Amino acid sequence: MLTPSRRTKIIATLGPATDAPGMLRKILEEGVDVVRLNLSHGRAEDHIERARLVREMAMELGREVAILADLQGPKIRIEKFASGPVFLEPEQPFVLDCRADADAGTIAGIGVSYLGLPRDVKPGDTLLLDDGLIALMVLRIDGTLIHTSVIHGGWLSDRKGINRMGGGLSVDALTDKDRSDIKLAAQMGADFLAVSFARSAADMNQARTLLRQAGGDAALVAKIERAEAIDVLGEIIDASDVVMVARGDLGVEIGDAELPGLQKKIIRETLARNKIVITATQMMQSMVESPIPTRAEVLDVANAVIDGTDAVMLSQESAAGKHPDKAVAAMRRVCLGAERQFESRDEFAPSSHRLDRSDQAIAMSAMFLSSQIGVRAIVALTESGGTAQWLSRYRSAVPIFALSRNGAARRRMLMYRDVYPIDFDPQELEPTSAVHEAILHLFTLGRLAENDRVIVTLGDHTGRGGGTNTLKLLKVGPNGAAEGLGDL
Ligand code: PGA
Ligand code: MN
Repeated sequence: MLTPSRRTKIIATLGPATDAPGMLRKILEEGVDVVRLNLSHGRAEDHIERARLVREMAMELGREVAILADLQGPKIRIEKFASGPVFLEPEQPFVLDCRADADAGTIAGIGVSYLGLPRDVKPGDTLLLDDGLIALMVLRIDGTLIHTSVIHGGWLSDRKGINRMGGGLSVDALTDKDRSDIKLAAQMGADFLAVSFARSAADMNQARTLLRQAGGDAALVAKIERAEAIDVLGEIIDASDVVMVARGDLGVEIGDAELPGLQKKIIRETLARNKIVITATQMMQSMVESPIPTRAEVLDVANAVIDGTDAVMLSQESAAGKHPDKAVAAMRRVCLGAERQFESRDEFAPSSHRLDRSDQAIAMSAMFLSSQIGVRAIVALTESGGTAQWLSRYRSAVPIFALSRNGAARRRMLMYRDVYPIDFDPQELEPTSAVHEAILHLFTLGRLAENDRVIVTLGDHTGRGGGTNTLKLLKVGPNGAAEGLGDL
């Protein structure tokens, strides 16, 4: 196989289901590029152990896997019931008691440990519990007590989340737990750190500062899951490395009808600002139970690919489902199908991208050229992965081989659509020799064959970040020797 096949990347959340013997290996073999550690659940020791196992398994399989640590964030939750779940009937009264030491819950009401909630809501508001399965209408507020009437009832169990329809809860983006989990992420050497319920660029900057202080070098992911975040989307994207369309909470806050349009808008905006985008939550939800996805789920994953997402994500399906490996396999299959049928046209539209750096200018030129002449691949000699990021922002049908000696950079690039990071050390070679060695290396790996034409990008000093200033057109000769290209 000369051309790498799947272009869209797959993220899988780890959990009890992937702790089963042999399951981690299976999901990695099925093609997971990035694993997510969901810090909303489990103890620090469990996450540290899972991260260790992932690295060990990746090593065993002879490949690289990136780790994304996902902060819990200020998800507001109800507390626990005294004797198990309760069944709420429509129109019955239900009280939320916002005190740190509220009594255990009953059919009449339950505690909420976010003390600011009575201040943030007003009579007439709708509160949504358990991702919107249960809806409460706020009747009146009496000190710490929020009196409500049930709109949609059903079973309600311990620690379910609460959202306000329309958003507007004032709670801070980083909780005390998040601050200590940022240190945990740094300690684990996570490649990505996700900030839940980000509201502003300031939230992202604060998380980045705390992470760097803790010695972490992870890329920052902004989870777009609050109504308010949509109003300042551009500034949040600019302050982040990666953006996640966090459809679970976002759908609850803005209403499901707005979700398809917003997903497309967030993906479009993120690509235009040269950043990376993940589409997440309930993509293959029925596979928590079922070994095959529904037709609607197949279409959902395919549509995210067509929208231009870099990565698609599994949550419950892999963390707590019955078939984590089958869910990954289904995702891979559907991504491939969508990529095949909706192959990017050779249509180059640079105008939608902002251009403000020289390595970016080279990347854009490379993508323009590849749309004009047939090439097998684009080869980027990159230290930091920056050039590969620019290259991958222009959707095309050509794979980008990103050669770097920097492991952290290679793992970050696992998230970029169309990019295949490869370990390569140009070792102080002068640029021409480094390029020849790189072509030979790809030939030896079977990624390039004789007569393939390639575009190479590099800098004057291979091995230094941000210096890409050169574009070369080459042909692969016999035995992998690089040759010049005359006639196109
Ligand atoms: P979560 O975030 O899985 O941490 O809730 C994703 C989402 O809300 O969609
Ligand atoms: Mn969420």
